[in-house]
Parts: sequence; structure tokens; C-alpha cells
Amino acid sequence: MSSIASTVSPRFSETEWQTRVDLAALYRLFVRYGWTDLIYTHISARVPGEDNHYLINPFGPFFDEITASMLVKVDFDGNVVDDSGLEYNQAGHLIHTAVLKVRPEINFVLHTHSRAGTAVSAMRCGLLPVSQHSNIILGTVAYHDYAQVTSDDDECERLGNDLQDNYLMVLRNHGLLACGRTAAEAFWYLYYLEMSCKIQVDVLAAGDDPLLVPPEVVAGLSEYGNPGPEPKGAREWPGLLRQLDRTDSSYRD
Ligand SMILES: [Zn+2]
Repeated sequence: MSSIASTVSPRFSETEWQTRVDLAALYRLFVRYGWTDLIYTHISARVPGEDNHYLINPFGPFFDEITASMLVKVDFDGNVVDDSGLEYNQAGHLIHTAVLKVRPEINFVLHTHSRAGTAVSAMRCGLLPVSQHSNIILGTVAYHDYAQVTSDDDECERLGNDLQDNYLMVLRNHGLLACGRTAAEAFWYLYYLEMSCKIQVDVLAAGDDPLLVPPEVVAGLSEYGNPGPEPKGAREWPGLLRQLDRTDSSYRD
């Protein structure tokens, strides 16, 4: 059952290295689960023990090329603070710092432009209680309206205000956002939201009047999906890493 051990690079502390490996694994899982959009969208992780620093992908490599050591360290003002000489996607800075600044318990932020997620983001009805998948997460889904960004600071504040203490957000006409205290938890929430969106698109495409689950039943399932004392996804995460390791463990480099 053991996964392939990663050798800690002497350039990084052991805790930072573990975060880098988890973050690189998330990039590879995006490919595996079909959530990528060329080199766009981004996933970030707070650097443990370093106030105001986070890790994000260099702008250019595809997500199946991302490795732990190539991730770029950026401060909350947007400056690259490592000596990698790599660039990152500035558009990602706004979204990720908006969450990391106002939610100190959140350590991983995931953003997608997936086909089904973007489709649901353009539906006036929002996420519907049409599946078990959506019922589980409906208690922690927020919405953020699309707008011309006139000031990064204003947009950052608006995004944080809209998210409140939720773990998922539908970015209207844009895509999805998921948060987690751990990489496993952020993946778990995004998996349920992506599945919910695919199912909703299929149901509505079928043209039938969808059968909605009654609110009292949704409430019971949401209870299970709402954030609790233990981060979600801990049971699935080692298996997800084993899936990656069986085909390509280079994310650990
Ligand atoms: Zn985006």
C-alpha cells in the first residue's frame, strides 16, 4: 500500500516539500480527471510556516509536466520570492490571494474552467439538487458574479466576501473554485462539484423536467458534506497518489 517516497530537495524544508508534492499531485490529477484548460487555470497552496507566501504553477508547462520543485513561490503582493526565474500567471494571483488572505484555515485553492463547470456557471438556476453528488455539497456552495475587473483590490475583496466560509464557489460565466484545509479535501470538494455539474448538464440536456430532491432530504445529505472537524478526502488521497504513481511519479521530482 505504500506510495513511492519523494526525496526532499535540499532547497526546501521538509514541510514545504510535502506541500509541493501534494500540489504537484493535484496538477496531475486535474489532467487525469479532465479538468484542464491548456495552460490556464491554476491551483495554489499556502507555504507552511511562511506568512503571506504561496506556491503556484509556472506559466507555460502543461499540467502533466508540473513537478514539485518547479512550483513558483509568490508573496501576497504578487512578487516571486524564489530564485527560479520562472513566471506565473498573474490572473491567478488575484483569485488565490483573495481566498488565502481571508480564510487562514484554507491551505489549497483549486480553479477550473471545465466544460460542465463553466456550463453550470452560466445557468441562472445555479447548482440544482438533482443528484446525490450535488446534494452532498449544496450546503457549502457560494456564487460570484462575473464583472469587468476595474481594481484588483476591489475584485479581491468582492471575491472573498462572496465566498464567506464556504468551500466551493461557482464563478458565474467563468468556472469553479474549490478550497481545502488539505490537498485531499480541496480535491474531494472539487470532485463532487465537477460530478454534480456534469450530471446537471446531462439532465437538462435530456429536456425533461428535472426531478428535484426535496429540501429536507438535501439538508440531511448536506450535513454529511459540510466541512467538519476532520478534513474530507483523507481516505481517498493515498489511492489517488497510487493511481498517479502507477503511471508517472515524476510529479515528485
Ligand atoms: Zn479562470
